[in-house]
Amino acid sequence: MSDSPSQAPEASHFLRHIIEDDLAAGRVSAVVTRFPPEPNGYLHFGHAKSICLNFGLAQRYGGRCHLRLDDTNPAKEEQEYVDAIEASVRWLGFDWGEHHHFASDYFDRLFACAEALIQAGHAYVDSQSADEIRSNRGTLTQAGQNSPFRDRPVQESLALFYRMRAGEFPDGAHVLRAKIDMASPNMNLRDPVLYRIRHSEHHRTGSAWCIYPLYDYAHPLSDAFEGISHSICTLEFEDHRPLYDWLLARVAEAGLLRAESLPRQYEFARLNLTYLVLSKRKLVDLIESGVVSGWDDPRMPTLVAGRRRGYTPEGFRRFIEQIGVSKSDGWIDYSVLEGCMREHLNDIAPRRVAVLDPLRLVIENVPEDAVELCEASNHPHHPEWGVRTMPFTRELFIEREDFMEVPTKGFFRLTPGGRVRLKYAYVLECTGFSKNAAGEVIEIRGRIFEDSRSGSAGADLYKVKGAIHWVCAHHSVRAEVRLYDRLFLRSNPGAGHEGDFKDDLNPHSMTVVHAALEPSLKDAQPEDRFQFERHGYFIADGVDSRPGAPVFNRTVTLKDSWTSKP
Ligand code: ATP
Ligand code: MG
Repeated sequence: MSDSPSQAPEASHFLRHIIEDDLAAGRVSAVVTRFPPEPNGYLHFGHAKSICLNFGLAQRYGGRCHLRLDDTNPAKEEQEYVDAIEASVRWLGFDWGEHHHFASDYFDRLFACAEALIQAGHAYVDSQSADEIRSNRGTLTQAGQNSPFRDRPVQESLALFYRMRAGEFPDGAHVLRAKIDMASPNMNLRDPVLYRIRHSEHHRTGSAWCIYPLYDYAHPLSDAFEGISHSICTLEFEDHRPLYDWLLARVAEAGLLRAESLPRQYEFARLNLTYLVLSKRKLVDLIESGVVSGWDDPRMPTLVAGRRRGYTPEGFRRFIEQIGVSKSDGWIDYSVLEGCMREHLNDIAPRRVAVLDPLRLVIENVPEDAVELCEASNHPHHPEWGVRTMPFTRELFIEREDFMEVPTKGFFRLTPGGRVRLKYAYVLECTGFSKNAAGEVIEIRGRIFEDSRSGSAGADLYKVKGAIHWVCAHHSVRAEVRLYDRLFLRSNPGAGHEGDFKDDLNPHSMTVVHAALEPSLKDAQPEDRFQFERHGYFIADGVDSRPGAPVFNRTVTLKDSWTSKP
């Protein structure tokens, strides 16, 4: 039996209850969900929650989940983002099958629905300027003002709408608005704009259109066209639900949708993670100000960056499962995400040795030309993964921090005259060390006890408290290793002070070291993952690493070093 936590029972939640009730009552015959990103940026960790939820529910109830690119704003959308979104959803482990859609696939149908709404007196062309529309909208405490164009005759609105589409007017000259209620306490119902004029190239439809539908119009109708049963979105859309329902009901009355099977919208709490920012605007700011190298900089909270950092799809799915789904907003501590990644990586990452800050150790009683092969297990819980060998020679590298000239209390590693175990090899006694002119220790000398080899009968004769790792000085591979840490020092970047969120950046979020790696790491393939003993989990960089010239990124340390910080 595998003890994989992915087999743990999944927690139930209110969305599952709703779906189960709908299926039991026969209100829906199949569960159809969708993930509807706007292709104006890369997906972030928050989107992972929506993806896992939408695809996960469809899977669980034998339904399907559509991937729909909500491409209704040509000014901000690009093919690059479409490609990246598809790749990230696949990488997370989900498949939309045939159901890859674009809101722009529906431009003709959306236009026909708008015509029908105008004809039925539920929409009108407003010729006020954007400023007038804004100032006549009223406030939360004050009703809005009806537009002077609100009661223009149906035929006049229709004719103007056709001329808008034909490109006869400049941007902003007219808009199409729903005719609902300018005094509604819900601002979304105060005659929301449905279409606007935008003379701009669309990444898919080119210059075929110069009017584009707004999200609040295109989204419910796209759901209905695709037969979505449960339209699941984040809480900020709760106030849009009355508009969602109003619109579908009016279009159904006009005979363009089936009233018996309209989709329904349900809201859940979005993911907020401490020590991160998840808004696309802020992510773009980080890129444009040069704080990070791009969308896939391993410190970014995007899925492409998480992948490059070494996070795993299983880790993300485990995390989303663990944090659950609720109807009230809250914050999840970043350490929960890291913990899920650690758990999965612990299971799948072969063990290796890397010395991140090399210090030379010369073993006086090992001859110059001697090479002994020491065996090290590839994984303590997977004996079937076997062992690899590491050459043990007269000159090794050890970690600089594993030697202290004047040890502090509780330091059990190498000290002058002290003993330590060289893991997988011998017990060593330190016989001396030398310093450079600047007073830095540059070399350690020592002698091994030849009968103390790990695994031999004599190993137990030597009681030493510490064990340290090492690599052979001549056979090790020198490589760039990037040590990543959190991007922000404060749990809620930008909050609680006057300044910018960028004032809370962690100046040490990336440290580059030139490490010495055990020889077997030389031929690592891009995206190979390892645990470097005592240092954490690492991945060969997917962009810069090559077999023969590896570059590693630290995914996460072995222990949570943050929750203990003040
Ligand atoms: P942002 O606000 O970060 O720019 P967005 O909401 O504009 O993101 P969309 O492309 O519109 O990004 O989002 C696609 C889907 O992902 C939507 O259904 C949205 O509700 C969901 N989503 C976005 N952010 C989160 C989050 N932090 N947690 C859960 N779901 C999210
Ligand atoms: Mg959005």
